[in-house]
Order: sequence, then structure tokens, then C-alpha cells
Amino acid sequence: MPWSLIEHGIVTVMARRPSKHLRAPRPLSAGHATSVDKSDGRWIVRSVPGAAATKPYRCPGCDHPVAAGTPHVVAWPSTPELGLDHAVDARRHWHTACWERRR
Ligand SMILES: [Zn+2]
Repeated sequence: MPWSLIEHGIVTVMARRPSKHLRAPRPLSAGHATSVDKSDGRWIVRSVPGAAATKPYRCPGCDHPVAAGTPHVVAWPSTPELGLDHAVDARRHWHTACWERRR
């Protein structure tokens, strides 16, 4: 049955991302985000180019500031039941090296 094949394909594609991402109201989805599995769960990670880093953040990895203008990564938990807004609130800015060291 060709229809069931098509249906299956759609379901597979949809199931790969939490449905809440489909109604992302903010530029969150504009960047190129990837998901990464760490020891404490799955995280969504997006790299931030230096030009887009307009203010300093504190890196949770080393507790030092990520200076404005520094290319870095932003990560937030991929927890669909948390809800998109809370996931956005949970975003953390990391030095790229600190994030990659994290397990
Ligand atoms: Zn750091």
C-alpha cells in the first residue's frame, strides 16, 4: 500500500523532533541546532558566531565569562515535557572547548 509508506515516512520525520519545535515563536529555530547526548540527557546545541555574541555570558563549565564577540555554543535541554519556553529559559552559553569537554 503506497499510502501507508508515505504515512510512515511522515511519522518518522515528525517523531525525530519534539512537536513543540514546530511552533517555535522565536528565532531559536533560525540557527543551525544539533542534538547531543551527554551523561545527563540530550541537549540541543547551537553555535554562536562571534558577531552574534553581543553580550557576555557566564560559562557553566569553567565559571568564567564568555566575552562578547567570542564564538561559543549555546545549549539547552531537549526535554519536550519541559515546554519550549522553559527550555529557552534553560539555555546556557558555553565556551566551545568547555562544552566539548563536558560528558
Ligand atoms: Zn568555559
